[in-house]
Amino acid sequence: MKEIGHWINGKMVAGTSGKFADVYNPATGEIQARVALASEAELAQAIADAEKAQLKWGATNPQRRARVFMEFGRLINAHMDELAELVSREHGKTLPDARGDVQRGLEVVEVCMGLPNLLKGEFTDSAGPGIDLYSMRQALGVVAGITPFNFPAMIPLWKMSPAIAAGNAMILKPSERCPSTALRLAELFKEAGLPDGVLQVVNGDKLAVDGLLDSETIQAVGFVGSTPIAQYIYGRAATNGKRAQCFGGAKNHMLIMPDADIEKAADALIGAGYGAAGERCMAISVAVPVGQETADKLVAALLPRIEKLKVGPYTAGEDIDFGPVITKASQERILGLINSGVDQGAKLVVDGRDLKLQGYENGFYVGATLFDDVTPDMEIYKQEIFGPVLSVVRAGNYEDALQLVIDNEYGNGTAIYTADGDTARDFASRVNVGMVGINFPIPVPLSYYTFGGWKKSAFGDLNQYGPDAFRFYTKTKTVTARWFSGIKDGAALNFKALD
Ligand code: NAD
Repeated sequence: MKEIGHWINGKMVAGTSGKFADVYNPATGEIQARVALASEAELAQAIADAEKAQLKWGATNPQRRARVFMEFGRLINAHMDELAELVSREHGKTLPDARGDVQRGLEVVEVCMGLPNLLKGEFTDSAGPGIDLYSMRQALGVVAGITPFNFPAMIPLWKMSPAIAAGNAMILKPSERCPSTALRLAELFKEAGLPDGVLQVVNGDKLAVDGLLDSETIQAVGFVGSTPIAQYIYGRAATNGKRAQCFGGAKNHMLIMPDADIEKAADALIGAGYGAAGERCMAISVAVPVGQETADKLVAALLPRIEKLKVGPYTAGEDIDFGPVITKASQERILGLINSGVDQGAKLVVDGRDLKLQGYENGFYVGATLFDDVTPDMEIYKQEIFGPVLSVVRAGNYEDALQLVIDNEYGNGTAIYTADGDTARDFASRVNVGMVGINFPIPVPLSYYTFGGWKKSAFGDLNQYGPDAFRFYTKTKTVTARWFSGIKDGAALNFKALD
């Protein structure tokens, strides 16, 4: 059985704890490797080595650090297909989708190429008589990144890139379900010129995470994952005096107004609801058509599109629409939630429960599922399903639809489809959600903006990537400097004239 270890001090090393987790191929259901789970001692050594490496990296001038990112970006591009294959093999998403996963991470690397500009401080000349005031952004030291399974390239790149660009060292703990992509990225980062020890990829479970949260050396924790774990990590990191930003789960709604182009809205819902088997924190899982007529037209437009969707392994060609979900447990949970929807009275319009793929009977597949007449008291509405299940909640009018989104405990993303600019503006202004799409289903901001949800979708301060990430990963120091006048009067720098 293939063993996956850690990336420590610029090398792949085997784990020494004797503890492992199985890594599945979700497309076939087979165990394809086992990943080492770090012990406390392994983690402590990785942190201590990172602390030494950071001193030199933090003192390297910003332009030189930026050049490492330029080369890293080039290498990621050159290895795009290989990285995408690594993503698909452990995650199960299609190859085009996996390339998107790498691409959206690469875009954050591209922003880091301009790091000298992003790290510039501020200066006020003559804030008082002879007084100058200036601020500088300094690295924190060693920071931690803890990432989920669903974007094995993008989210590790979101974490490691700004942190390291700002002069920190990072301990990255990727998801134990998809560990290989982060390790390969670390190898490419070294090839690009990153000094050993600045990025340590430590695989592990709760033990390693708790070790990071309790370490006195770790200055900040950037987490992405489910809401209960985000809340737990935020609490423990903050209690230990660390900076923490912890991004959690989601339940994203899309409003479809009576004046919307129904065909376009249906196309958008298919991609946003079923792409990546619904395993995206920005997936649309709730469609909210306004008015019965809009709802009837929308469901009628969705049906033929869903019937055409092709589910299969990533190896079956580029026309596969989505692959399996991540684990057997996840598949069973999703099927259980679909059953609960039926039991609680939702109308099951398309049933994805019995999907069987010839030759892949043990893969973790769930077919595209559509519920109509869903109400907010049902489990399928209350829980983040994280599977290919779309719920239609019918709303009588715009205010009721908006209120539904406002009342939801999550606030990651939302969208509205309408032909009316006034409605769209009102929605964007009043909705209490971090990322809003107007006739745009998955509004993940580009890398020079920032990404972050509201309510239970994020705990802590500042967003991921973009300018916020540089604020999160640096401390501001402000200097007030006074130089007394008179010294220059005393010095005789002029040629003395002969007496
Ligand atoms: P998860 O919470 O199970 O795991 C995330 C990380 O936390 C992993 O590295 C895991 O090893 C670690 N972890 C798990 N249980 C832990 C525990 N008890 N103590 C300490 N650490 C623990 O999440 P997941 O299933 O890998 O990812 C899916 C979730 O991530 C979804 O809820 C999705 O919405 C969310 N997500 C959010 C965003 C965002 O930016 N808001 C982006 C992507 C995914």
